[in-house]
Amino acid sequence: MPALDTPVKFVRGVGPHVADLLAQKSIQTAEDLLYHLPFRYEDRQNPRSLDELKPGEVASIIGEVRGAALLRTRRMPLFEVTIGQGRFALKCIWFNAPYLNGKFQAGQTVAVYGKVEASRSTSNFKMIQPQFEILPDASADAETRLLEVGRITPVYESLGGSRLASRWQRKVIFNLLEGVHGVVPECLPRSMLDRLSLPSREIALREVHFPPEGTPFPQLQSFSTPAHRRLIFEELFFLELGLELKRRRMKQREGIAFAANDKVREAIREVLPFHPTAAQKRALGEIVSDMRAPSPMRRLLQGDVGSGKTIVAFQAMLVAMENGYQAALMAPTEILATQHYLAARKLFERSSRKPRIVLLTGSLDEDRKRTNRGLINRGEADLVIGTHALIEEKVEFGKLGLVVVDEQHRFGVLQRFKLMKKPNQPEPDVLVMTATPIPRTLALSLYGDLDLSILDELPPGRMPIVTRRVAGERATEVWEFVRKQVAQSRQAYIVYPVIEGSKDDQPELDFSQEPDGGVDSHPLRQEREKDEARGTSARKCKTAELFPKAVREANPNGRSGLRSAVEMHEKLRTGPLAGLRVGLLHGRLDADDKDVIMRRFQRGEIDVLVATTVIEVGVDVPNATVMVVDHAERFGLAQLHQLRGRVGRGAAKSYCILMTGDRVSDVGEERLNAMVRTQDGFELAELDLSMRGPGEFFGTRQAGLPDFRVANLLRDRQLLELAKQEAARFAIDPGPDVTQEERGHVRAQLKQSWQRRYGLVEAG
Ligand code: ADP
Ligand code: MG
Repeated sequence: MPALDTPVKFVRGVGPHVADLLAQKSIQTAEDLLYHLPFRYEDRQNPRSLDELKPGEVASIIGEVRGAALLRTRRMPLFEVTIGQGRFALKCIWFNAPYLNGKFQAGQTVAVYGKVEASRSTSNFKMIQPQFEILPDASADAETRLLEVGRITPVYESLGGSRLASRWQRKVIFNLLEGVHGVVPECLPRSMLDRLSLPSREIALREVHFPPEGTPFPQLQSFSTPAHRRLIFEELFFLELGLELKRRRMKQREGIAFAANDKVREAIREVLPFHPTAAQKRALGEIVSDMRAPSPMRRLLQGDVGSGKTIVAFQAMLVAMENGYQAALMAPTEILATQHYLAARKLFERSSRKPRIVLLTGSLDEDRKRTNRGLINRGEADLVIGTHALIEEKVEFGKLGLVVVDEQHRFGVLQRFKLMKKPNQPEPDVLVMTATPIPRTLALSLYGDLDLSILDELPPGRMPIVTRRVAGERATEVWEFVRKQVAQSRQAYIVYPVIEGSKDDQPELDFSQEPDGGVDSHPLRQEREKDEARGTSARKCKTAELFPKAVREANPNGRSGLRSAVEMHEKLRTGPLAGLRVGLLHGRLDADDKDVIMRRFQRGEIDVLVATTVIEVGVDVPNATVMVVDHAERFGLAQLHQLRGRVGRGAAKSYCILMTGDRVSDVGEERLNAMVRTQDGFELAELDLSMRGPGEFFGTRQAGLPDFRVANLLRDRQLLELAKQEAARFAIDPGPDVTQEERGHVRAQLKQSWQRRYGLVEAG
């Protein structure tokens, strides 16, 4: 009898060759296979009848093949199958699909799934590119018929071509479930399951694959059957329990108890260039109270673009320095590190302490790096500002008290605490800053190992940014407007999605490989995004052949057809913006050049900065009042919001102009409209989350956030809350009705799930 951790190659029907294919999908064990859930179900018990369909509806239909033909049209070969149901017929069409030739025979029963559309020529319906399955006929073996016909049938994403598609998975999983019958270990305590009315793990696994007769179909489609809820809860519970335990362990660790007395307060007052907002005061209060406590601080400071996080961080750093400790600030890009360095020098000029401030980035020359490392190591540098280099250059701080990590989503959750301290020194405090306005409940649940402070208020005197959408053809008017603003001594950014369009259409990715990828608005992907928003599987339409039309439209000449930063810099400089000082900034410039350009823009020696998304995060030039984003439809919502956040930072009225290219998809439209409608980062984040799905929103990879097997953070927010409550409760005291054995199972599962997620044995 197989156990759940049996290597998948020993599972009946798999074998070594298939196991290799499954390994590519991260399926290593019997358990992994069981947690590969159907992404939808077909009700073959009560199939839909053609006469009840409405155009626009997504439906699954069972019918009889009446005819099939490959039609060679002028543009491409079409494959057409007519499916009949009594006196009704449905025409199914696949583009570019000669491979379907010979697959269908008249008289076969098939199930098709797709969007029903009215057919132009007849009163019948048609489906474009439906998914299909030819159902077994009476000659098939009993097992096949049992799994395929007359029941609610699970539909799986293929695990490798047509061979490992749904039909194969149904059989293998069905047999596997028989095999593990009675031996699936329960990992949650009985009393918890009872209290939450959730089924056992074994029942959940069985019913999620093979729903019992009578399961309400809508529940299945929304993944909210008790079986689904149980598996989703389980996954989220172990995430939350791990976070909770981490947080508790941190509170027990020995850190530094900083003093925050009048002297420290005076030192802060001395440097503050303006009155902090109420939100800034509150956040600083929370931070300082953590710093005074003897356990290490782990706090997330969240605030929308322009809410003034930097000054809060600098104040916290001053507290550390006043206590005789070093403080470090780690930024995601060299541009930002340099900007922070200059800002710190300016700010602390006023301080009577005159801290020694040191910059450490990868592009400094070796001598300078060596000198700076020495200063840091001997504790002579009070304030250290840098990039990843702070980790990579193996700098050991003499007496590190506080680490501030700016824009953590670029770093990855795990890396953020790896900064170097000497072995015999106490654990430094850590403050993470992010401008990603994560909806509060999600933030609390996902960063459960961090405490949260929020800046929910902008500094006074900010005027709303005027946001306009302009079609690309009206560019002349835009350039005219830029000229006018420059004539009033203002500055402007003009952002393009790619560095160089014609030579290679590589998106600007050198700093920020963030998931919204910025420039990835390939029509296929937008289709996927829409699918996700609808809650159907995002992954089912994979191949370019599925959308030949869309691909052609976006790619008129087989090239990107995008305006690029390099090309437009040249055109603008010599054309519409001639006479202005126009600079160019992108990720492929070497670090010194970037630095020079940025400084000149900061000092007002450049009027217009043509750039890529390198300027997306954090750049602070209050005199810049115009942000033009070209091909705005290509950027993600979070990115547009960040870009817009580069202006409106001073007292002058600011403008964000979203120029569009030729074709804007529905999702693109939605994003642009949202940008025009609101400036509220949280509102945009909610929308972004619902449009893209959490995986992409959080950038699973970059953020080191878990890749969920069954949960979906957007869909399952309520279960996430429940899991969090239960995890906190369990961590405090599992209660008398949880046996020692059950506690052992929880611990084992916790370890296993964190290991799988993070490759770590961290959660004990
Ligand atoms: P972000 O939160 O996006 O990092 P910054 O820290 O860069 O924002 O602050 C944005 C701008 O607002 C900066 O120019 C900063 O000097 C200014 N600022 C911050 N706090 C205040 C305040 N309380 N009053 C006036 N201006 C402020
Ligand atoms: Mg910032």
